[in-house]
Amino acid sequence: MPELPDVEGFREVVARHAVGRRIERVDVADAGVLRGVTARQLGDRLHSHRFGKPERYGKWLIARTDGPAVLMHFGMTGSLAWLGSGAPRARYDRVVFVTDAGELHYSDMRKLQGIRLAQGPDDVDRVLAGLGPDALTVGSGEFGRLLTRHRRAIKPTLADQHVLAGLGNLLVDEILWRARINPRRPANSLDPGERDGLYRQMRRVLRDSVRQGRVPAKPSWLTGVRGQPEARCPRCGTPLSRGRIGGRTTVWCPNCQRAA
Ligand SMILES: [Zn+2]
Repeated sequence: MPELPDVEGFREVVARHAVGRRIERVDVADAGVLRGVTARQLGDRLHSHRFGKPERYGKWLIARTDGPAVLMHFGMTGSLAWLGSGAPRARYDRVVFVTDAGELHYSDMRKLQGIRLAQGPDDVDRVLAGLGPDALTVGSGEFGRLLTRHRRAIKPTLADQHVLAGLGNLLVDEILWRARINPRRPANSLDPGERDGLYRQMRRVLRDSVRQGRVPAKPSWLTGVRGQPEARCPRCGTPLSRGRIGGRTTVWCPNCQRAA
């Protein structure tokens, strides 16, 4: 499931390969991923424009050109890859941006989100409006203030893109486990020391994950064991708990992350 580190990896793909390349055409294999733009408009408006420096905000990739910007969201199953000209299309390749020197393939099995076209900065702002600060750049003071404003459980609060942009289910569980905070604790019940600890663990987990382009499934990480039957805490060996919190499957250690 693409979260901030994965999208940061996709941004890197665009930055490394697509910048400066001229878009010759856009092949839309499935218009079901287009939001607010038709396949024809997408191709016409991007034709002959060159990709510029890409940006990421939360889970959004903003692929700028010297004309409109392409905003991509990867939902639950999306990905982005750079391939040589004329590369064979994969089954779930929905949109392929064909440039003068290679192709950018946007794939997504489930099509929950998709691609938008922004004509100018206002359009970009409109799509991103309402999102919280980006999890990778938020400062500790602002992070702490966000938590004190919410009474619901810390798990869904951190995963809510309107509170903080970029974290998903895996990252939130990993960060709470590192910080030894029970996922059902009300966000505003954390004391200043716990908020600082949570912020520090978020920084560490994001740094390591961004480096790998995903949340790494290392055996010393919760993410590395959470999918196993009868999974145990990598830190203390206690069998992990599993339940639905805020509508999402949540995994935690009942020993390390006691309810306060
Ligand atoms: Zn434990």
